[in-house]
Amino acid sequence: MKFKDKIFIAGHKGLFGSAILRTLKKKGFKNILFVDKKNVNLENQKQVDNFFKKNKPKHVFLAAAKAGGILANMKKPAEFIYKNLLMQNNIIHAAYKNKVEKLLFLGSSCIYPKHFLNDIKETDLLSGHLEETNKHYAIAKIAGIYLCDSYNRQYFNEQKKFRAIIPTNLFGPNDNYHPLYSHVIAALIARFKQSVRLKKKEIRVWGTGRPKREFMFSDDAAEAAVEVLRLTNKKFEKLVGKNLNYINIGTGKDYSINQICLYLKKISGFKGKIIFDKKYPDGMYRKLMSTKLTKKIPFKIKNNFFDSLKKTYLEY
Ligand code: GDP
Repeated sequence: MKFKDKIFIAGHKGLFGSAILRTLKKKGFKNILFVDKKNVNLENQKQVDNFFKKNKPKHVFLAAAKAGGILANMKKPAEFIYKNLLMQNNIIHAAYKNKVEKLLFLGSSCIYPKHFLNDIKETDLLSGHLEETNKHYAIAKIAGIYLCDSYNRQYFNEQKKFRAIIPTNLFGPNDNYHPLYSHVIAALIARFKQSVRLKKKEIRVWGTGRPKREFMFSDDAAEAAVEVLRLTNKKFEKLVGKNLNYINIGTGKDYSINQICLYLKKISGFKGKIIFDKKYPDGMYRKLMSTKLTKKIPFKIKNNFFDSLKKTYLEY
Protein backbone atom coordinates (compact mmCIF):
# COMPACT_ATOMS: atom_id res chain seq x y z
CA MET A 1 0.00 0.00 0.00
CA LYS A 2 1.68 3.20 -1.18
CA PHE A 3 0.86 6.66 0.15
CA LYS A 4 -0.52 7.79 -3.21
CA ASP A 5 -2.64 4.67 -3.82
CA LYS A 6 -6.38 5.15 -4.17
CA ILE A 7 -8.04 3.74 -1.06
CA PHE A 8 -11.81 3.41 -0.74
CA ILE A 9 -13.41 3.36 2.71
CA ALA A 10 -16.97 2.01 2.54
CA GLY A 11 -18.80 3.28 5.61
CA HIS A 12 -16.48 6.18 6.48
CA LYS A 13 -19.03 7.88 8.74
CA GLY A 14 -19.46 5.01 11.19
CA LEU A 15 -17.54 4.10 14.32
CA PHE A 16 -14.93 1.94 12.60
CA GLY A 17 -14.88 3.57 9.15
CA SER A 18 -14.28 7.02 10.62
CA ALA A 19 -11.42 5.60 12.70
CA ILE A 20 -9.92 4.11 9.52
CA LEU A 21 -10.18 7.50 7.84
CA ARG A 22 -8.42 9.27 10.76
CA THR A 23 -5.73 6.59 10.87
CA LEU A 24 -5.00 6.63 7.12
CA LYS A 25 -4.76 10.42 7.12
CA LYS A 26 -2.47 10.39 10.15
CA LYS A 27 -0.18 7.88 8.49
CA GLY A 28 0.10 10.06 5.38
CA PHE A 29 -2.18 8.32 2.87
CA LYS A 30 -3.32 11.02 0.50
CA ASN A 31 -5.75 9.50 -1.98
CA ILE A 32 -8.72 8.42 0.11
CA LEU A 33 -12.15 7.92 -1.41
CA PHE A 34 -15.51 7.73 0.28
CA VAL A 35 -19.11 8.10 -0.77
CA ASP A 36 -22.28 9.55 0.57
CA LYS A 37 -25.40 7.41 0.81
CA LYS A 38 -27.19 9.99 -1.35
CA ASN A 39 -24.79 9.44 -4.26
CA VAL A 40 -23.93 5.78 -3.97
CA ASN A 41 -26.29 3.45 -2.15
CA LEU A 42 -24.10 0.50 -1.16
CA GLU A 43 -27.14 -1.77 -1.08
CA ASN A 44 -27.60 -1.17 -4.80
CA GLN A 45 -25.42 -3.37 -6.97
CA LYS A 46 -25.59 -1.16 -10.05
CA GLN A 47 -24.56 1.94 -8.15
CA VAL A 48 -21.67 0.12 -6.47
CA ASP A 49 -20.55 -1.32 -9.83
CA ASN A 50 -20.60 2.11 -11.46
CA PHE A 51 -18.66 3.63 -8.60
CA PHE A 52 -15.91 0.99 -8.81
CA LYS A 53 -15.76 1.18 -12.63
CA LYS A 54 -15.40 4.94 -12.55
CA ASN A 55 -13.00 5.28 -9.61
CA LYS A 56 -10.92 2.09 -9.72
CA PRO A 57 -9.70 2.03 -6.11
CA LYS A 58 -6.59 -0.02 -5.43
CA HIS A 59 -7.46 -0.93 -1.85
CA VAL A 60 -10.77 -1.20 -0.02
CA PHE A 61 -11.75 -1.06 3.64
CA LEU A 62 -15.22 -2.56 3.94
CA ALA A 63 -16.56 -0.98 7.11
CA ALA A 64 -20.09 -0.33 5.84
CA ALA A 65 -22.54 -2.40 7.85
CA LYS A 66 -25.89 -2.40 9.54
CA ALA A 67 -24.80 -2.83 13.15
CA GLY A 68 -26.26 -2.35 16.60
CA GLY A 69 -26.42 -3.61 20.14
CA ILE A 70 -28.09 -6.64 21.62
CA LEU A 71 -31.67 -5.29 21.37
CA ALA A 72 -31.30 -3.96 17.81
CA ASN A 73 -30.10 -7.41 16.75
CA MET A 74 -33.05 -9.12 18.42
CA LYS A 75 -35.67 -6.72 17.05
CA LYS A 76 -34.42 -6.40 13.48
CA PRO A 77 -32.89 -9.74 12.44
CA ALA A 78 -34.12 -9.39 8.86
CA GLU A 79 -32.52 -5.99 8.36
CA PHE A 80 -29.27 -7.18 9.92
CA ILE A 81 -28.89 -10.21 7.71
CA TYR A 82 -30.34 -8.80 4.48
CA LYS A 83 -28.64 -5.41 4.39
CA ASN A 84 -25.26 -6.74 5.43
CA LEU A 85 -25.34 -9.51 2.85
CA LEU A 86 -26.33 -7.02 0.16
CA MET A 87 -23.63 -4.47 0.93
CA GLN A 88 -20.82 -6.96 1.34
CA ASN A 89 -21.79 -8.96 -1.77
CA ASN A 90 -21.95 -5.79 -3.86
CA ILE A 91 -18.64 -4.40 -2.66
CA ILE A 92 -16.60 -7.61 -2.59
CA HIS A 93 -17.76 -8.65 -6.07
CA ALA A 94 -17.19 -5.18 -7.52
CA ALA A 95 -13.72 -5.19 -5.94
CA TYR A 96 -12.96 -8.48 -7.70
CA LYS A 97 -14.31 -7.30 -11.07
CA ASN A 98 -12.36 -4.07 -10.90
CA LYS A 99 -9.07 -5.66 -9.92
CA VAL A 100 -8.79 -4.24 -6.43
CA GLU A 101 -5.41 -5.28 -5.06
CA LYS A 102 -6.43 -5.78 -1.43
CA LEU A 103 -9.64 -5.63 0.55
CA LEU A 104 -10.22 -5.68 4.27
CA PHE A 105 -13.61 -6.86 5.54
CA LEU A 106 -14.77 -6.04 9.04
CA GLY A 107 -15.99 -9.07 11.00
CA SER A 108 -17.15 -9.22 14.61
CA SER A 109 -16.35 -11.36 17.65
CA CYS A 110 -20.00 -12.50 17.73
CA ILE A 111 -19.23 -14.88 14.85
CA TYR A 112 -17.62 -17.33 17.28
CA PRO A 113 -19.58 -20.17 18.89
CA LYS A 114 -21.16 -19.33 22.21
CA HIS A 115 -19.61 -22.14 24.24
CA PHE A 116 -16.16 -20.54 24.05
CA LEU A 117 -15.82 -18.13 26.94
CA ASN A 118 -12.23 -17.05 26.57
CA ASP A 119 -9.10 -17.54 24.52
CA ILE A 120 -11.26 -17.82 21.39
CA LYS A 121 -8.94 -18.67 18.54
CA GLU A 122 -9.44 -17.95 14.86
CA THR A 123 -9.64 -21.70 14.24
CA ASP A 124 -12.67 -21.97 16.58
CA LEU A 125 -14.94 -20.46 13.90
CA LEU A 126 -17.86 -22.73 12.90
CA SER A 127 -17.13 -25.30 15.58
CA GLY A 128 -20.36 -24.84 17.53
CA HIS A 129 -23.67 -23.01 17.93
CA LEU A 130 -23.95 -19.23 17.71
CA GLU A 131 -25.36 -16.97 20.42
CA GLU A 132 -29.11 -16.50 19.75
CA THR A 133 -29.23 -12.72 20.34
CA ASN A 134 -27.08 -11.87 17.32
CA LYS A 135 -27.19 -14.98 15.17
CA HIS A 136 -28.46 -13.26 12.01
CA TYR A 137 -25.82 -10.55 12.05
CA ALA A 138 -23.16 -13.16 12.79
CA ILE A 139 -24.24 -15.30 9.84
CA ALA A 140 -23.96 -12.31 7.49
CA LYS A 141 -20.46 -11.60 8.84
CA ILE A 142 -19.41 -15.25 8.48
CA ALA A 143 -20.71 -15.18 4.89
CA GLY A 144 -18.61 -12.06 4.24
CA ILE A 145 -15.45 -13.72 5.54
CA TYR A 146 -16.08 -16.79 3.40
CA LEU A 147 -16.92 -14.68 0.38
CA CYS A 148 -13.47 -13.08 0.69
CA ASP A 149 -11.92 -16.50 1.17
CA SER A 150 -13.67 -17.93 -1.90
CA TYR A 151 -12.33 -15.20 -4.19
CA ASN A 152 -8.82 -15.78 -2.87
CA ARG A 153 -9.15 -19.47 -3.64
CA GLN A 154 -10.94 -19.33 -6.97
CA TYR A 155 -9.62 -16.17 -8.60
CA PHE A 156 -6.40 -15.12 -6.88
CA ASN A 157 -4.45 -18.33 -6.97
CA GLU A 158 -4.76 -18.74 -3.18
CA GLN A 159 -3.18 -15.35 -2.49
CA LYS A 160 -4.81 -13.72 0.51
CA LYS A 161 -5.82 -10.48 -1.17
CA PHE A 162 -9.24 -10.30 0.46
CA ARG A 163 -8.86 -10.43 4.25
CA ALA A 164 -10.93 -9.89 7.34
CA ILE A 165 -10.31 -8.74 10.84
CA ILE A 166 -12.41 -9.88 13.78
CA PRO A 167 -12.46 -6.95 16.16
CA THR A 168 -13.73 -7.15 19.68
CA ASN A 169 -16.45 -4.71 20.97
CA LEU A 170 -15.43 -1.25 19.77
CA PHE A 171 -16.26 2.23 21.06
CA GLY A 172 -15.16 5.77 20.25
CA PRO A 173 -16.12 8.82 18.17
CA ASN A 174 -19.12 8.53 15.81
CA ASP A 175 -20.63 5.64 17.72
CA ASN A 176 -24.40 5.21 17.57
CA TYR A 177 -25.93 6.63 20.76
CA HIS A 178 -29.50 5.48 20.20
CA PRO A 179 -31.04 4.77 23.64
CA LEU A 180 -32.29 1.30 22.66
CA TYR A 181 -30.32 0.18 19.63
CA SER A 182 -26.76 1.16 20.55
CA HIS A 183 -24.00 -1.01 22.00
CA VAL A 184 -23.43 -1.00 25.72
CA ILE A 185 -20.66 1.63 26.05
CA ALA A 186 -22.52 4.23 23.99
CA ALA A 187 -25.80 3.40 25.72
CA LEU A 188 -24.32 3.79 29.19
CA ILE A 189 -22.41 6.98 28.35
CA ALA A 190 -25.63 8.58 27.09
CA ARG A 191 -27.64 7.31 30.05
CA PHE A 192 -25.16 8.46 32.70
CA LYS A 193 -24.90 11.91 31.06
CA GLN A 194 -28.66 12.28 30.97
CA SER A 195 -29.17 10.96 34.49
CA VAL A 196 -26.65 13.43 35.92
CA ARG A 197 -28.23 16.30 33.99
CA LEU A 198 -31.73 15.42 35.17
CA LYS A 199 -30.49 14.58 38.70
CA LYS A 200 -32.14 11.15 38.49
CA LYS A 201 -32.28 8.97 41.60
CA GLU A 202 -31.55 5.75 39.74
CA ILE A 203 -30.15 4.44 36.50
CA ARG A 204 -31.33 1.25 34.82
CA VAL A 205 -28.80 -1.09 33.24
CA TRP A 206 -29.80 -4.14 31.21
CA GLY A 207 -29.26 -7.68 32.40
CA THR A 208 -27.39 -8.78 35.50
CA GLY A 209 -24.26 -6.65 35.04
CA ARG A 210 -22.21 -9.82 35.26
CA PRO A 211 -21.40 -10.43 31.57
CA LYS A 212 -17.91 -9.44 30.57
CA ARG A 213 -16.88 -7.75 27.38
CA GLU A 214 -13.53 -7.00 25.81
CA PHE A 215 -13.57 -3.37 24.70
CA MET A 216 -11.20 -1.61 22.34
CA PHE A 217 -10.98 2.04 21.37
CA SER A 218 -11.86 2.32 17.67
CA ASP A 219 -8.60 4.07 16.71
CA ASP A 220 -6.54 1.16 18.07
CA ALA A 221 -8.58 -1.32 16.02
CA ALA A 222 -8.19 0.91 12.95
CA GLU A 223 -4.43 1.05 13.45
CA ALA A 224 -4.34 -2.75 13.52
CA ALA A 225 -6.63 -2.96 10.47
CA VAL A 226 -4.45 -0.67 8.38
CA GLU A 227 -1.32 -2.62 9.33
CA VAL A 228 -3.06 -5.91 8.45
CA LEU A 229 -3.89 -4.61 4.99
CA ARG A 230 -0.38 -3.24 4.51
CA LEU A 231 1.14 -6.71 4.91
CA THR A 232 2.10 -8.39 1.67
CA ASN A 233 0.09 -11.49 0.71
CA LYS A 234 3.02 -13.65 1.75
CA LYS A 235 3.48 -11.97 5.12
CA PHE A 236 -0.22 -12.14 5.89
CA GLU A 237 -0.27 -15.83 5.03
CA LYS A 238 2.72 -16.40 7.29
CA LEU A 239 0.80 -14.71 10.09
CA VAL A 240 -2.53 -16.56 9.83
CA GLY A 241 -1.51 -19.79 8.14
CA LYS A 242 -2.59 -21.44 4.91
CA ASN A 243 -6.25 -21.99 5.77
CA LEU A 244 -7.32 -18.68 7.27
CA ASN A 245 -7.95 -15.25 5.78
CA TYR A 246 -8.91 -13.48 9.03
CA ILE A 247 -7.32 -12.44 12.29
CA ASN A 248 -8.60 -11.44 15.73
CA ILE A 249 -8.11 -7.87 16.91
CA GLY A 250 -8.46 -7.60 20.66
CA THR A 251 -6.83 -6.43 23.85
CA GLY A 252 -6.79 -9.72 25.75
CA LYS A 253 -8.64 -8.23 28.71
CA ASP A 254 -12.34 -8.00 29.53
CA TYR A 255 -14.44 -6.15 32.11
CA SER A 256 -17.88 -6.79 33.55
CA ILE A 257 -20.76 -4.45 32.71
CA ASN A 258 -20.90 -3.71 36.45
CA GLN A 259 -17.26 -2.53 36.40
CA ILE A 260 -18.06 -0.20 33.51
CA CYS A 261 -21.03 1.20 35.43
CA LEU A 262 -18.96 1.83 38.56
CA TYR A 263 -16.32 3.66 36.53
CA LEU A 264 -18.93 5.79 34.73
CA LYS A 265 -20.55 6.53 38.06
CA LYS A 266 -17.22 7.77 39.38
CA ILE A 267 -16.29 10.01 36.45
CA SER A 268 -19.81 11.37 35.91
CA GLY A 269 -20.44 12.19 39.54
CA PHE A 270 -23.79 10.37 39.36
CA LYS A 271 -25.16 10.14 42.89
CA GLY A 272 -28.10 7.76 42.42
CA LYS A 273 -28.45 3.99 42.45
CA ILE A 274 -27.55 1.56 39.68
CA ILE A 275 -30.35 -0.94 39.09
CA PHE A 276 -29.81 -4.03 36.97
CA ASP A 277 -32.96 -4.79 34.99
CA LYS A 278 -33.15 -8.54 34.53
CA LYS A 279 -36.04 -8.22 32.06
CA TYR A 280 -33.32 -7.50 29.47
CA PRO A 281 -30.98 -10.19 28.15
CA ASP A 282 -27.34 -10.67 29.13
CA GLY A 283 -26.38 -12.22 25.80
CA MET A 284 -23.04 -14.01 25.90
CA TYR A 285 -21.61 -14.34 29.38
CA ARG A 286 -18.08 -13.83 28.10
CA LYS A 287 -16.38 -13.80 24.69
CA LEU A 288 -12.73 -13.00 25.19
CA MET A 289 -10.68 -13.65 22.07
CA SER A 290 -7.20 -15.04 21.81
CA THR A 291 -4.61 -12.38 20.97
CA LYS A 292 -1.90 -14.83 20.02
CA LEU A 293 -2.02 -13.77 16.37
CA THR A 294 -3.04 -10.15 17.10
CA LYS A 295 0.25 -9.67 18.92
CA LYS A 296 2.15 -10.52 15.75
CA ILE A 297 0.62 -7.62 13.81
CA PRO A 298 3.11 -4.74 13.70
CA PHE A 299 1.05 -2.34 15.84
CA LYS A 300 0.70 -1.31 19.46
CA ILE A 301 -2.42 -0.48 21.44
CA LYS A 302 -2.00 3.19 22.30
CA ASN A 303 -5.14 3.92 24.27
CA ASN A 304 -5.65 2.62 27.78
CA PHE A 305 -9.25 1.38 28.15
CA PHE A 306 -10.40 3.49 31.10
CA ASP A 307 -8.65 6.64 29.82
CA SER A 308 -10.30 6.35 26.41
CA LEU A 309 -13.66 5.59 28.05
CA LYS A 310 -13.30 8.80 30.03
CA LYS A 311 -12.29 10.73 26.92
CA THR A 312 -15.30 9.36 25.02
CA TYR A 313 -17.58 10.22 27.93
CA LEU A 314 -16.28 13.80 28.09
CA GLU A 315 -16.52 14.29 24.32
CA TYR A 316 -20.09 12.96 24.05
P1 GDP B 1 -23.17 -7.71 22.67
O1 GDP B 1 -21.73 -7.68 23.03
O2 GDP B 1 -23.42 -8.18 21.27
O3 GDP B 1 -23.98 -8.50 23.66
O4 GDP B 1 -23.70 -6.22 22.61
P2 GDP B 1 -24.07 -5.02 23.59
O5 GDP B 1 -22.95 -4.05 23.58
O6 GDP B 1 -25.39 -4.50 23.11
O7 GDP B 1 -24.30 -5.61 25.06
C1 GDP B 1 -23.28 -6.02 25.90
C2 GDP B 1 -23.80 -6.32 27.28
O8 GDP B 1 -24.16 -5.10 27.92
C3 GDP B 1 -25.03 -7.22 27.37
O9 GDP B 1 -24.86 -8.11 28.44
C4 GDP B 1 -26.15 -6.23 27.68
O10 GDP B 1 -27.23 -6.80 28.36
C5 GDP B 1 -25.41 -5.24 28.57
N1 GDP B 1 -26.08 -3.92 28.68
C6 GDP B 1 -26.40 -3.31 29.85
N2 GDP B 1 -27.04 -2.16 29.62
C7 GDP B 1 -27.12 -2.02 28.28
C8 GDP B 1 -27.69 -1.01 27.43
O11 GDP B 1 -28.27 -0.03 27.86
N3 GDP B 1 -27.56 -1.21 26.08
C9 GDP B 1 -26.92 -2.28 25.55
N4 GDP B 1 -26.81 -2.40 24.22
N5 GDP B 1 -26.42 -3.26 26.34
C10 GDP B 1 -26.50 -3.13 27.67
